Amino acid sequence: MKKLPKIRSGADPVVVTLSILAAVIGLFSIGMTIAGVRSDDNSSQSSVVVARTSDSSGAQSSLARGMGDASRRADLSVARMDGGRIALVIDDLGGDPASTRRALALPAAVTLAFLPYPPATPALAAMGARAGHEIIAHVPMQADKGAYPGMEALEIVLTPEEITARLESALSRVPFAIGINNHMGSRFTSDATALAPVMRVLKARGLFFFDSKTTPDTKVAEAADRAGVPNAARDVFLDDVQTADAVTAELDRADRIARTTGLATVIGHPHAVTLAVLEGWVARNKARLIPLSEALRLKRQGLQAQR
Ligand SMILES: [Zn+2]
Repeated sequence: MKKLPKIRSGADPVVVTLSILAAVIGLFSIGMTIAGVRSDDNSSQSSVVVARTSDSSGAQSSLARGMGDASRRADLSVARMDGGRIALVIDDLGGDPASTRRALALPAAVTLAFLPYPPATPALAAMGARAGHEIIAHVPMQADKGAYPGMEALEIVLTPEEITARLESALSRVPFAIGINNHMGSRFTSDATALAPVMRVLKARGLFFFDSKTTPDTKVAEAADRAGVPNAARDVFLDDVQTADAVTAELDRADRIARTTGLATVIGHPHAVTLAVLEGWVARNKARLIPLSEALRLKRQGLQAQR
Protein backbone atom coordinates (compact mmCIF):
# COMPACT_ATOMS: atom_id res chain seq x y z
CA MET A 1 0.00 0.00 0.00
CA LYS A 2 1.31 3.47 -0.88
CA LYS A 3 1.69 5.82 2.03
CA LEU A 4 0.18 9.26 1.90
CA PRO A 5 2.88 11.74 0.94
CA LYS A 6 4.25 13.64 3.89
CA ILE A 7 3.18 17.27 3.94
CA ARG A 8 5.92 19.51 5.22
CA SER A 9 4.86 22.56 7.17
CA GLY A 10 5.17 25.72 5.13
CA ALA A 11 4.62 23.90 1.82
CA ASP A 12 2.86 25.65 -1.05
CA PRO A 13 -0.93 25.12 -0.48
CA VAL A 14 -1.44 24.34 -4.19
CA VAL A 15 1.21 21.58 -4.02
CA VAL A 16 -0.36 20.24 -0.81
CA THR A 17 -3.82 20.10 -2.41
CA LEU A 18 -2.49 18.35 -5.52
CA SER A 19 -0.54 15.84 -3.41
CA ILE A 20 -3.61 14.91 -1.40
CA LEU A 21 -5.68 14.61 -4.56
CA ALA A 22 -3.05 12.34 -6.18
CA ALA A 23 -2.90 10.16 -3.07
CA VAL A 24 -6.69 9.79 -2.94
CA ILE A 25 -6.82 8.82 -6.64
CA GLY A 26 -3.98 6.36 -6.08
CA LEU A 27 -5.75 4.67 -3.16
CA PHE A 28 -9.00 4.57 -5.11
CA SER A 29 -7.41 2.84 -8.11
CA ILE A 30 -5.62 0.31 -5.90
CA GLY A 31 -8.96 -0.46 -4.24
CA MET A 32 -10.60 -0.94 -7.64
CA THR A 33 -7.83 -3.30 -8.76
CA ILE A 34 -8.20 -5.49 -5.69
CA ALA A 35 -11.99 -5.53 -6.02
CA GLY A 36 -11.75 -6.50 -9.72
CA VAL A 37 -9.27 -9.29 -9.10
CA ARG A 38 -11.31 -10.70 -6.25
CA SER A 39 -14.56 -10.92 -8.14
CA ASP A 40 -12.84 -12.63 -11.07
CA ASP A 41 -11.13 -15.00 -8.65
CA ASN A 42 -14.49 -16.26 -7.43
CA SER A 43 -15.86 -17.02 -10.87
CA SER A 44 -12.89 -18.22 -12.90
CA GLN A 45 -11.36 -20.56 -10.36
CA SER A 46 -14.57 -22.39 -9.60
CA SER A 47 -13.79 -25.49 -11.67
CA VAL A 48 -10.44 -25.93 -9.99
CA VAL A 49 -11.95 -25.32 -6.57
CA VAL A 50 -14.57 -28.02 -7.13
CA ALA A 51 -11.87 -30.54 -7.98
CA ARG A 52 -9.73 -29.65 -5.01
CA THR A 53 -12.34 -29.39 -2.31
CA SER A 54 -13.82 -32.74 -3.26
CA ASP A 55 -10.59 -34.35 -2.10
CA SER A 56 -9.45 -34.63 1.47
CA SER A 57 -7.29 -32.56 3.75
CA GLY A 58 -4.02 -32.22 1.83
CA ALA A 59 -5.59 -30.58 -1.19
CA GLN A 60 -7.74 -28.40 1.01
CA SER A 61 -4.81 -27.03 2.94
CA SER A 62 -3.00 -26.21 -0.30
CA LEU A 63 -6.15 -24.48 -1.53
CA ALA A 64 -6.42 -22.47 1.67
CA ARG A 65 -2.81 -21.40 1.38
CA GLY A 66 -3.33 -20.33 -2.24
CA MET A 67 -6.43 -18.32 -1.41
CA GLY A 68 -4.77 -16.68 1.57
CA ASP A 69 -1.76 -15.34 -0.28
CA ALA A 70 -2.66 -11.83 -1.37
CA SER A 71 0.31 -11.59 -3.74
CA ARG A 72 -1.17 -14.38 -5.85
CA ARG A 73 -4.27 -12.33 -6.48
CA ALA A 74 -2.32 -9.85 -8.56
CA ASP A 75 -3.28 -9.78 -12.22
CA LEU A 76 -0.79 -10.11 -15.07
CA SER A 77 -0.03 -6.42 -15.37
CA VAL A 78 0.59 -6.13 -11.66
CA ALA A 79 2.67 -9.35 -11.77
CA ARG A 80 4.82 -7.95 -14.57
CA MET A 81 5.75 -4.92 -12.49
CA ASP A 82 7.61 -7.02 -9.92
CA GLY A 83 9.32 -9.49 -12.23
CA GLY A 84 6.41 -11.73 -13.20
CA ARG A 85 5.19 -15.10 -11.92
CA ILE A 86 6.58 -18.51 -12.76
CA ALA A 87 4.61 -21.76 -12.63
CA LEU A 88 7.01 -24.68 -12.37
CA VAL A 89 5.85 -28.24 -13.07
CA ILE A 90 8.01 -31.32 -12.49
CA ASP A 91 6.62 -34.21 -14.51
CA ASP A 92 7.46 -37.89 -15.17
CA LEU A 93 7.15 -38.45 -11.39
CA GLY A 94 6.35 -41.75 -9.68
CA GLY A 95 8.61 -44.09 -11.64
CA ASP A 96 11.70 -43.39 -9.57
CA PRO A 97 10.66 -42.98 -5.91
CA ALA A 98 14.03 -41.48 -4.83
CA SER A 99 14.01 -38.60 -7.33
CA THR A 100 10.25 -38.15 -6.79
CA ARG A 101 10.86 -37.63 -3.06
CA ARG A 102 13.52 -35.07 -3.93
CA ALA A 103 10.96 -33.19 -6.08
CA LEU A 104 8.47 -33.39 -3.19
CA ALA A 105 10.97 -31.48 -1.05
CA LEU A 106 10.81 -28.45 -3.40
CA PRO A 107 8.58 -25.55 -2.24
CA ALA A 108 4.85 -26.31 -2.15
CA ALA A 109 4.19 -23.86 -5.02
CA VAL A 110 5.94 -26.32 -7.39
CA THR A 111 3.31 -28.45 -9.17
CA LEU A 112 3.93 -32.21 -9.38
CA ALA A 113 2.83 -34.32 -12.39
CA PHE A 114 2.65 -38.09 -11.82
CA LEU A 115 2.76 -40.87 -14.39
CA PRO A 116 -0.32 -43.02 -13.60
CA TYR A 117 1.03 -46.56 -13.64
CA PRO A 118 4.23 -46.80 -11.57
CA PRO A 119 3.31 -48.80 -8.43
CA ALA A 120 4.46 -46.00 -6.09
CA THR A 121 2.41 -43.26 -7.77
CA PRO A 122 -0.77 -43.26 -5.60
CA ALA A 123 1.16 -43.09 -2.31
CA LEU A 124 3.68 -40.49 -3.55
CA ALA A 125 0.96 -38.29 -5.09
CA ALA A 126 -0.95 -38.33 -1.81
CA MET A 127 2.27 -37.45 0.01
CA GLY A 128 2.79 -34.52 -2.38
CA ALA A 129 -0.73 -33.23 -1.79
CA ARG A 130 -0.24 -33.48 1.98
CA ALA A 131 2.92 -31.38 1.60
CA GLY A 132 0.79 -28.71 -0.12
CA HIS A 133 1.75 -29.29 -3.76
CA GLU A 134 -0.77 -29.18 -6.57
CA ILE A 135 -0.94 -32.60 -8.20
CA ILE A 136 -1.73 -33.36 -11.84
CA ALA A 137 -1.84 -36.62 -13.81
CA HIS A 138 0.88 -36.91 -16.46
CA VAL A 139 -1.11 -38.91 -18.99
CA PRO A 140 0.78 -40.97 -21.61
CA MET A 141 -0.31 -40.08 -25.14
CA GLN A 142 0.75 -41.31 -28.57
CA ALA A 143 3.93 -39.78 -29.97
CA ASP A 144 4.98 -39.25 -33.58
CA LYS A 145 7.49 -41.69 -35.02
CA GLY A 146 6.39 -44.59 -32.82
CA ALA A 147 8.17 -43.70 -29.54
CA TYR A 148 6.55 -45.76 -26.74
CA PRO A 149 4.73 -43.47 -24.28
CA GLY A 150 4.00 -46.22 -21.73
CA MET A 151 1.10 -48.55 -21.00
CA GLU A 152 -2.52 -47.55 -21.57
CA ALA A 153 -1.47 -44.53 -23.64
CA LEU A 154 -4.14 -42.52 -25.42
CA GLU A 155 -3.95 -43.25 -29.16
CA ILE A 156 -5.78 -41.82 -32.13
CA VAL A 157 -6.89 -45.28 -33.36
CA LEU A 158 -8.91 -45.88 -30.17
CA THR A 159 -12.67 -45.32 -30.08
CA PRO A 160 -13.96 -42.40 -27.97
CA GLU A 161 -15.17 -44.98 -25.41
CA GLU A 162 -11.69 -46.53 -25.18
CA ILE A 163 -10.05 -43.11 -24.83
CA THR A 164 -12.52 -42.24 -22.08
CA ALA A 165 -11.87 -45.53 -20.25
CA ARG A 166 -8.08 -45.16 -20.46
CA LEU A 167 -8.17 -41.57 -19.20
CA GLU A 168 -10.48 -42.50 -16.33
CA SER A 169 -8.17 -45.37 -15.43
CA ALA A 170 -5.17 -43.01 -15.44
CA LEU A 171 -7.01 -40.48 -13.26
CA SER A 172 -7.96 -43.21 -10.78
CA ARG A 173 -4.24 -43.81 -10.19
CA VAL A 174 -3.37 -40.20 -9.31
CA PRO A 175 -5.21 -39.07 -6.16
CA PHE A 176 -5.74 -35.33 -5.69
CA ALA A 177 -5.17 -34.56 -9.38
CA ILE A 178 -6.69 -31.18 -10.32
CA GLY A 179 -5.74 -31.44 -13.99
CA ILE A 180 -3.61 -33.31 -16.50
CA ASN A 181 -0.68 -32.73 -18.81
CA ASN A 182 0.49 -34.92 -21.66
CA HIS A 183 3.46 -37.31 -21.46
CA MET A 184 4.81 -37.30 -25.05
CA GLY A 185 1.62 -37.01 -27.17
CA SER A 186 2.94 -35.20 -30.26
CA ARG A 187 0.63 -37.35 -32.42
CA PHE A 188 -2.38 -37.51 -30.11
CA THR A 189 -2.50 -33.81 -29.18
CA SER A 190 -2.40 -32.76 -32.83
CA ASP A 191 -5.74 -34.55 -33.42
CA ALA A 192 -8.75 -32.49 -32.34
CA THR A 193 -11.17 -35.40 -32.88
CA ALA A 194 -9.16 -37.71 -30.60
CA LEU A 195 -8.96 -34.95 -27.98
CA ALA A 196 -12.74 -34.45 -27.85
CA PRO A 197 -13.52 -37.36 -25.46
CA VAL A 198 -10.57 -36.29 -23.27
CA MET A 199 -12.07 -32.83 -22.94
CA ARG A 200 -15.51 -34.28 -22.13
CA VAL A 201 -14.03 -36.22 -19.18
CA LEU A 202 -12.08 -33.17 -17.95
CA LYS A 203 -15.12 -30.91 -18.24
CA ALA A 204 -17.32 -33.36 -16.33
CA ARG A 205 -14.74 -33.62 -13.53
CA GLY A 206 -13.78 -29.94 -13.34
CA LEU A 207 -10.17 -30.65 -14.35
CA PHE A 208 -7.84 -28.57 -16.56
CA PHE A 209 -5.46 -29.51 -19.40
CA PHE A 210 -1.91 -28.15 -19.21
CA ASP A 211 -0.43 -28.69 -22.68
CA SER A 212 3.18 -29.90 -22.47
CA LYS A 213 3.33 -28.69 -26.07
CA THR A 214 5.37 -31.50 -27.57
CA THR A 215 4.31 -30.46 -31.09
CA PRO A 216 3.82 -27.11 -32.82
CA ASP A 217 0.66 -28.67 -34.36
CA THR A 218 -1.06 -29.05 -30.99
CA LYS A 219 -4.86 -28.73 -30.97
CA VAL A 220 -5.18 -28.80 -27.17
CA ALA A 221 -6.15 -25.14 -26.73
CA GLU A 222 -8.67 -25.33 -29.57
CA ALA A 223 -10.30 -28.55 -28.28
CA ALA A 224 -10.24 -27.40 -24.65
CA ASP A 225 -11.72 -23.98 -25.44
CA ARG A 226 -14.49 -25.61 -27.47
CA ALA A 227 -15.36 -27.87 -24.51
CA GLY A 228 -15.02 -25.13 -21.90
CA VAL A 229 -12.01 -26.77 -20.23
CA PRO A 230 -9.46 -24.43 -18.58
CA ASN A 231 -6.09 -24.75 -20.32
CA ALA A 232 -2.62 -23.31 -20.68
CA ALA A 233 0.54 -24.35 -22.48
CA ARG A 234 4.16 -24.75 -21.49
CA ASP A 235 6.56 -21.93 -22.39
CA VAL A 236 9.88 -23.56 -21.44
CA PHE A 237 11.32 -27.10 -21.13
CA LEU A 238 14.20 -26.88 -18.68
CA ASP A 239 16.23 -29.95 -19.52
CA ASP A 240 16.10 -31.04 -23.15
CA VAL A 241 19.88 -30.76 -22.70
CA GLN A 242 20.85 -32.28 -19.35
CA THR A 243 23.69 -30.05 -18.19
CA ALA A 244 23.70 -27.46 -15.41
CA ASP A 245 24.56 -24.70 -17.92
CA ALA A 246 21.68 -25.64 -20.21
CA VAL A 247 19.14 -25.85 -17.35
CA THR A 248 20.34 -22.49 -16.02
CA ALA A 249 20.02 -20.94 -19.49
CA GLU A 250 16.41 -22.19 -19.75
CA LEU A 251 15.60 -20.79 -16.30
CA ASP A 252 17.00 -17.44 -17.51
CA ARG A 253 14.72 -17.69 -20.53
CA ALA A 254 11.71 -18.35 -18.26
CA ASP A 255 12.76 -15.34 -16.20
CA ARG A 256 12.74 -13.10 -19.29
CA ILE A 257 9.32 -14.37 -20.40
CA ALA A 258 7.91 -13.72 -16.92
CA ARG A 259 9.33 -10.19 -16.85
CA THR A 260 7.95 -9.44 -20.32
CA THR A 261 4.50 -11.05 -20.15
CA GLY A 262 3.88 -11.37 -16.40
CA LEU A 263 3.85 -15.19 -16.50
CA ALA A 264 6.05 -18.09 -17.60
CA THR A 265 5.05 -21.77 -17.47
CA VAL A 266 7.95 -24.19 -17.11
CA ILE A 267 8.32 -27.98 -17.19
CA GLY A 268 11.31 -29.80 -15.73
CA HIS A 269 12.02 -33.49 -15.16
CA PRO A 270 13.37 -35.29 -12.11
CA HIS A 271 16.91 -35.63 -13.51
CA ALA A 272 19.65 -35.17 -10.91
CA VAL A 273 21.09 -32.16 -12.74
CA THR A 274 17.69 -30.44 -13.07
CA LEU A 275 16.86 -30.94 -9.39
CA ALA A 276 20.29 -29.74 -8.29
CA VAL A 277 20.01 -26.50 -10.28
CA LEU A 278 16.38 -26.00 -9.20
CA GLU A 279 17.12 -26.43 -5.50
CA GLY A 280 19.29 -23.31 -5.63
CA TRP A 281 17.05 -21.41 -8.02
CA VAL A 282 13.76 -21.88 -6.13
CA ALA A 283 15.34 -20.54 -2.95
CA ARG A 284 16.13 -17.27 -4.76
CA ASN A 285 12.81 -17.07 -6.64
CA LYS A 286 10.33 -18.42 -4.10
CA ALA A 287 8.23 -15.25 -4.04
CA ARG A 288 7.56 -15.49 -7.80
CA LEU A 289 6.56 -19.16 -7.86
CA ILE A 290 2.85 -19.88 -8.28
CA PRO A 291 0.95 -23.17 -8.50
CA LEU A 292 -0.37 -24.18 -11.91
CA SER A 293 -4.05 -23.42 -11.14
CA GLU A 294 -3.00 -19.85 -10.39
CA ALA A 295 -1.18 -19.62 -13.74
CA LEU A 296 -4.38 -20.72 -15.48
CA ARG A 297 -6.33 -18.07 -13.62
CA LEU A 298 -3.79 -15.37 -14.53
CA LYS A 299 -3.81 -16.47 -18.16
CA ARG A 300 -7.60 -16.32 -18.32
CA GLN A 301 -7.55 -12.89 -16.74
CA GLY A 302 -4.98 -11.72 -19.31
CA LEU A 303 -7.18 -12.98 -22.14
CA GLN A 304 -10.20 -11.17 -20.71
CA ALA A 305 -8.18 -7.96 -20.44
CA GLN A 306 -7.26 -8.17 -24.13
CA ARG A 307 -10.89 -8.29 -25.25
ZN1 LIG B 1 6.70 -36.99 -19.62
